[in-house]
Order: sequence, then C-alpha cells, then structure tokens
Amino acid sequence: EQVDIVALIEETVTTFQRAYTREIIFTNHAVDAVILSGNRDQLEQVIYILIDNALKYSEERVEVDFDVWDKLAIIKVRDYGAGIPESEQARIFDRFYRVDKARSRDTGGTGLGLSIAKAIVKEHQGELTVQSTVGEGSTFTVKFPI
Ligand code: ATP
Repeated sequence: EQVDIVALIEETVTTFQRAYTREIIFTNHAVDAVILSGNRDQLEQVIYILIDNALKYSEERVEVDFDVWDKLAIIKVRDYGAGIPESEQARIFDRFYRVDKARSRDTGGTGLGLSIAKAIVKEHQGELTVQSTVGEGSTFTVKFPI
C-alpha cells in the first residue's frame, strides 16, 4: 500500500483536535506529500498511540513535527509533561510495562501502546526512540526509510 504519511499525520492530528480542547500543533518542515509503502491503518495506529500518550501524560500543548532527512521520514511527537526517568526509558517499550503504576493507574491504560507502536515501526523497517527529561517532557521520534 502507498501511504502519504504527511496527509495521514494531518488527518490523525485533526481527529485529536476535534476530540480534545488541548493545543495540538502540527508542523511540516518537508514537502507536502511523502509516500511510504506500508500498511495505512498500522501507520495511523503508531501516530495515534504517540499523540494519545503525549496528551495523557502532560497537561500542556503537544507538538507533532514532520521532516525528511537523509532519505528518512522523521516524525516527532513532543510533550511538556512529567517526562520519563532514564532508568525506565528502555522498558516503556515492553509489553504491559507502565512507569509508576500507582500514578499511571488514574490515567488508565494497559501498558501495551508503545510495544504495539514499536512492533509496527519495526515491521516497516523504521526506528522508534524516546528522548525525555524528568520535569521537562518527552519526545518520541519515529524514522521510516523513504
Ligand atoms: P495504553 O497503551 O493502554 O494506553 P499505557 O499508556 O500505560 O497504556 P504505553 O503506551 O505502552 O502504555 O506506555 C507505557 C508507559 O510509558 C506508560 O504507562 C507511561 O508510564 C509511560 N509513558 C508513555 N508515554 C509517555 C509520555 N509521553 N510521557 C510520560 N510517560 C509516558
């Protein structure tokens, strides 16, 4: 399947903007259309999971950025929330893993989202990473070969 990843991000962001009063800002630093070959529903699920988490684990605006660099499509989802301690950053991609179970319990969730996202990204020969600082926020980065 040929998927215009820019249009897909735009549509997913719009869906969230309609459902939430939170500020969700999409910035495209690249060209208008970038075509990836992959599964549209699965790619949408990755973007959905990352934005959903950013909204769940922060209270301020969420920023979604798109860029193309070195034959890679690069998607960043940034929040200004609690952040994730370095010691936990590798484990958040494990199935059922949740940071600080007492605190995350109020936000609901199973701890499956990021493991699903990671698996989908891998299936598309991509890479999913996190940069996060406690007290400042988190940025999840997805890179797909074009
Ligand atoms: P579900 O997948 O059902 O929504 P979940 O959000 O707990 O549940 P994951 O998406 O796999 O599951 O995330 C795992 C854990 O990583 C979360 O419980 C949370 O502790 C942490 N986490 C994920 N995204 C963020 C974020 N943007 N900021 C801070 N912590 C995060």
